[in-house]
Amino acid sequence: MKNSPQAVQVLVVDDEQDIRDGSERILSRMGCSVFKAGRGEEGLDILSREAVDIVLLDLKMPGMDGMEVLSRIQSGDQQILVIVITGFATVETAIEAMKQGAYDFIPKPFEPDQLRIVINRAREKIRLTREAEELIRERKRTLADLGAEKSRIHTIIESLPSGLVVTNTEGEVVLMNPSFRRRLGLASNRKPGEPISAYVDNAEFCSLVKGISSGRIADSGEVQTCEFSLSDEKYLMARGRPVLGEGKECLGAVINLVDISAIKVLDRLKSEFVAKVSHELRSPLSTIHEQLALVIKDMTEDESQQDQYILSRAKEKTQGLISLIGDLLDLSRIEAGNAGQQPRPVQVEKLLSSIVDFIGARAQAKQQSLVFNPPSIPLPPVTADPVALESIFGNLITNAINYTQEGGEIRVQVKRTDDRLCITVSDNGFGIESKHLENIFKRFYRVKNEKTRFITGTGLGLPIVKGLLDEWGGSIRVESTVGKGSVFTVYLPLEE
Ligand code: ADP
Repeated sequence: MKNSPQAVQVLVVDDEQDIRDGSERILSRMGCSVFKAGRGEEGLDILSREAVDIVLLDLKMPGMDGMEVLSRIQSGDQQILVIVITGFATVETAIEAMKQGAYDFIPKPFEPDQLRIVINRAREKIRLTREAEELIRERKRTLADLGAEKSRIHTIIESLPSGLVVTNTEGEVVLMNPSFRRRLGLASNRKPGEPISAYVDNAEFCSLVKGISSGRIADSGEVQTCEFSLSDEKYLMARGRPVLGEGKECLGAVINLVDISAIKVLDRLKSEFVAKVSHELRSPLSTIHEQLALVIKDMTEDESQQDQYILSRAKEKTQGLISLIGDLLDLSRIEAGNAGQQPRPVQVEKLLSSIVDFIGARAQAKQQSLVFNPPSIPLPPVTADPVALESIFGNLITNAINYTQEGGEIRVQVKRTDDRLCITVSDNGFGIESKHLENIFKRFYRVKNEKTRFITGTGLGLPIVKGLLDEWGGSIRVESTVGKGSVFTVYLPLEE
């Protein structure tokens, strides 16, 4: 880069020594470096060696005249501002020089101020030119960086092992990688540009993509997921997030697609194994349980209390194992999508009433009040498997009894809200700390504390409840406060 605008280099080409020296004095005081030449050839020679910014050029000189020097300067590739120095008599020549590309002119003789004004104007022009050049260089650099970044991102996307698809707000595909095409069995030269449904034949997946793309499914910070299968053997898991603009507006969606077929197969094998083992264990355990019951019944008063105690404990333990096996078999059935009977219309208030009657004895044993207030007007029936519903509410009410102190209260209610029934099982028992709430629906998860330590259970009740509700299109919510109690709310869809 040349010197800064304040320190420009000026060449004075004039055959008059006074003009050369006078100009040098003024220009040096302005902070310019000055070269001097008495003849045109000498001036050109200096220009070939030095990075000169401004030439003060006398037009009338012996030998090579100013116009010739000007035209030589113009034909070179240096960007030099030429200011011609001209006597009054040669104003026309000055105009001619301007036409040939001279930047400005100064009449001879000139006052120091006149020279300063002309030079300052030229310096300003140089400053602006340099700034513009710097901006152009900067832009080129940025464009080159962007180009490199784009190519890097393109390579990353192309080589990702998982499928990636990007859509616009209309749900049309704007980008997809080879892995996405492979996972969906699309031709390797299949181009983006069509709606997502043209590439993936699955309603649930397409509705997720369209929902995220249009901003209907807002970005809650959580990744939206959806599992779907394209054939019996192939299972895919999609995870999607919206792409947000600067103003947080939705610009489309990015969906990541992973093949989970192997995990599904393993999961099925595991469930089948658990179901098989459970099934094999159930009969012998039931036999042991019944035989223990018989032995205990036949024990006489004289037999030692110790023996009676040991056998009763053994009977309790086998009962625990039988419940565990029952729960495992239920879970296996739900996972296999084989939850039970065909759905049929069920009057939920009647079903709740009979469950409460059936379980009531347990609450009585703990001096608890178990209350069910049926609604005053009959509710519309839900279409569901009654056995599944019994299992759902049986589990929730049993939990309420188990995790509520003696003398506590358990309340069961049902009401209609819009297009669904809302059933609540509330208790004023131990309550659940909020950190456990998201886990209690996971298999084998049990809250362990001073209050629950002695309560037996499998940790499979709530996963069964959740599994059955998912199966029948219902849902469950829980609110709880430690020391105050819990409210489990079940939503069941009503037929339109
Ligand atoms: P289990 O009752 O066999 O342990 P669940 O899956 O039914 O298994 O329940 C999981 C855990 O959730 C329980 O161990 C208990 O800590 C907690 N829980 C469930 N229902 C209630 C309730 N009504 N009040 C307090 N805690 C509860």
